[in-house]
Amino acid sequence: MTKMNTDPSGSLFPDHDSLTEADHRLTERLGAARRLMPSRDVVPDGPSGKWLRELRSMGFDQPKELAGLVEWVIEGLETGTVQVTHPGYLGLFNPAPTFAAECADRIASVFNPQICVHSHAPAAVEIELHVIREVARRAGMPDGSGGHFTSGGSEANFTGMLCALQAGSPAYGDDGLCAFARPPCIFVSEESHLAWLKIAHAAGVGRNAVRLIQTDGRGRMDPEALTETIETDVRSGNVPVMIAATAGTTNAGMVDPLTRCGEIARKHGMWFHVDAAWGGALIARDTGALKGIEEADSITIDAHKWFATTMGAGMFLTSRPDLVAQVFRIDASYMPRSDTAKDFYVNSNQWSRRFVGLRMFLALGTAGWMGYADHVERAIRLADRLAFLLQREGWSLVNDSPMAVACLVPPEGHEAVRNYVDAVRSDGRFWVSTAIFEGKPVLRACITNGRTNEGDIDALVEVLASVRVDHDTSARFDRARRVLESGNSQARRRSS
Ligand SMILES: *Cc1c(COP(=O)(O)O)cnc(C)c1O
Repeated sequence: MTKMNTDPSGSLFPDHDSLTEADHRLTERLGAARRLMPSRDVVPDGPSGKWLRELRSMGFDQPKELAGLVEWVIEGLETGTVQVTHPGYLGLFNPAPTFAAECADRIASVFNPQICVHSHAPAAVEIELHVIREVARRAGMPDGSGGHFTSGGSEANFTGMLCALQAGSPAYGDDGLCAFARPPCIFVSEESHLAWLKIAHAAGVGRNAVRLIQTDGRGRMDPEALTETIETDVRSGNVPVMIAATAGTTNAGMVDPLTRCGEIARKHGMWFHVDAAWGGALIARDTGALKGIEEADSITIDAHKWFATTMGAGMFLTSRPDLVAQVFRIDASYMPRSDTAKDFYVNSNQWSRRFVGLRMFLALGTAGWMGYADHVERAIRLADRLAFLLQREGWSLVNDSPMAVACLVPPEGHEAVRNYVDAVRSDGRFWVSTAIFEGKPVLRACITNGRTNEGDIDALVEVLASVRVDHDTSARFDRARRVLESGNSQARRRSS
């Protein structure tokens, strides 16, 4: 693999003919990887010890041929990562990306536009702004709404938090938390995405500012509990600044009562944010499942979840672009002057960044909203099929999500979930997870791949039907564990 010609610029910037040839070879190799993937296990055993040793001994003193390195990396990824683009991956919200999104990545790489300032990349910026406006319109937001692409849902939620603080006290931008006479606090449900805790930490309000509102027994924020908690905070002099409702919880795809949450936020002069990172794709299909989302001051929708772009693309939508501009204002003398309303560096958290919006543009352009409506409906049908077939086998479905995620409990009860998930993992063709829904373990299966089909679902049901839970063994195991634990705590008590 050692390269004879050690001219560094030749390896970094090959001439156009060799580059094009290498490009073709890479395309063919990736094509082979795609074709082979469904016949591999979803969770490979690797990376192998050999591969890891090679990595750790790589000192970068000796240049190597790119072709060899590329092959080595692809083998590492084939054998050493969960294959989230496998049709049997019924997993966390990681998609098999659309081909249009992959094309967008290649195009963005060749032109590498600097998208943070409009005057440098007007074509790219205008494409992103157009997509954002169309998505906001589709979500039912008022005219004049805007926003921007983000690295993902966490950044978009973080921006929502900063806007809420800015709206809560205009002096926040300059004085930080001192702008608030009393501690600000935010309200999310227990089933919300817990990145809110990190966000509160990073924004300086602290993790204790996050009120985790109890759910209603069905995984949705309980509006009565929400109102009570807000009123308690108001009475103790705290400053409620934001309700962040979840539209499509990570565990179970449940939607908080958006209209109610919006009304409560309005009544208390709070910012209303909707975290629809995954579930937001339902705007493609006008079902009313997201009713109330159009009332939000800001919305998070990930492009890299159900819209299935490649990783690292989220969207922040807002009916208050003026507030975003207050949050991210800056005056950098070296930056080219242009239309500041369209300069992302003064309207979003990032500065230099990738042209990720092209992924949504090409995908929406080729599929249209109708194509995406089919995509989400298809996923929902498959999740329904899984639930239906398993219910016939004595399983119960414990969530009633309008989305493509099923939380299921086996006939033997919650305790047996682990056995089933382990059995699926050791079969190798599928990946499902365990989650805690309303305090109890469930088997969670989410359709995240546009190529997963009915045959896959039926095969998964067969795998699950073949699992035998040995009641005796598991009961004996539980007894043994209890004895052991009580022994341990006695020992601890004795030693203290
Ligand atoms: C995935 C997810 C997030 C985090 O988004 P990233 O894109 O992973 O940063 C936040 N909220 C919800 C509801 C999510 O599903």
